[in-house]
Amino acid sequence: MQLRFRRLALLCSAALVTACASTTDNTATPRTAQQIAQQTIIVDTHIDVPYRLHKDWEDVTIATKRGEFDYPRAQAGGLNAPFMSIYIPASYERSGGGYQLANHLIDGMEALVGRAPDKFAMAYSTDDVLAQFGTGKVSLALGMENGTPIAGKLENLQHFYQRGIRYITLSHSESNHIADSSYDLRRRWNGLSPFGKELVVAMNNIGMMIDISHVSDDAFYQTVALSKVPVIASHSSLRSYTPGFERNMDDNMIKALAKNGGVVQINFGSSFVTQMANQYGALRKAAAKQAGVADDDAFETEFRKKHPYPFATLDTVLDHIDHVVKLVGIDYVGIGSDYDGVGDSLPVGLKDVASYPNLIDGLLKRGYSEADIEKILSGNLLRVWRTVEQYAAQYKAG
Ligand SMILES: [Zn+2]
Repeated sequence: MQLRFRRLALLCSAALVTACASTTDNTATPRTAQQIAQQTIIVDTHIDVPYRLHKDWEDVTIATKRGEFDYPRAQAGGLNAPFMSIYIPASYERSGGGYQLANHLIDGMEALVGRAPDKFAMAYSTDDVLAQFGTGKVSLALGMENGTPIAGKLENLQHFYQRGIRYITLSHSESNHIADSSYDLRRRWNGLSPFGKELVVAMNNIGMMIDISHVSDDAFYQTVALSKVPVIASHSSLRSYTPGFERNMDDNMIKALAKNGGVVQINFGSSFVTQMANQYGALRKAAAKQAGVADDDAFETEFRKKHPYPFATLDTVLDHIDHVVKLVGIDYVGIGSDYDGVGDSLPVGLKDVASYPNLIDGLLKRGYSEADIEKILSGNLLRVWRTVEQYAAQYKAG
């Protein structure tokens, strides 16, 4: 097994990522979902471990009771390269301190590697992901969720690139100095701010992926029009299943994203994939208001007893993947689970990072080929990342 990994890793580092995505030997007997999970690179573009550990530290190098990620479960699920979310709450745009928090959260990931260098390694490039595949190490790539730490200074983009950030989600739950947020009724910029437009160009030039999850529709279209390279949605699902929920992508946006060569990484959270779960929070808020009490954890526990949470299923997540494939083809969809970021709202069958084999099994049952499954698990995302790297390399070379 180890030999096969080594050979594959060597092949991959020597070849283009797109070629690497189809190294499967199709003449062999069909592999099981578990085998595919272990023998294929799995990149998940959104896992909230850094902020989880910041709030409630646990040693994720060993099995943990809480949370959805730890090393043993990542190994069991075949997860190779999670993008660890350097998540900065929207309030930091007003309070300041986002730059410090981002650096602190990055320090936390470096500490994880320092504590268990046999289990974790940082990944700063597609080459790192490919080279570390099959070594038993989980490659930690970094994505910054919310551009607040950039604080209007392009030198901060340079700083965070040097610290290893490889994508930035332009805004989070509130409009910031870069872009409007889908969650925020105040449309400060009607899309991107003047600085946001400058930042998009600078991100292209430095080799940082642009993440359009969370931004308003206007900000999305302006970004796609401006970016010289494909963009990603690191953890978004489809609006056709959650009508009116701007945080998800509608069909026209997916078409525009695909035309640009980008990829939508499907968010697993139930409230992102079904209308019922999407409405649940609003129902709970309304109930709290009616009862004249705070919508806090205690109220949520009580409310859940009376109104069980309508968990989505693995099948619903597969429906989202199918929808993208039918709409624009197999090359524009991947996974951005939002593990450790969406609380107790994960679908039945996809509860933690040990669950990727379930997803693969579902794809096999729906008739996806192994080559297509590899695209969904990492090939599409690595193609975009590689394109972004190449564009920046050419830009630097003048
Ligand atoms: Zn998010």
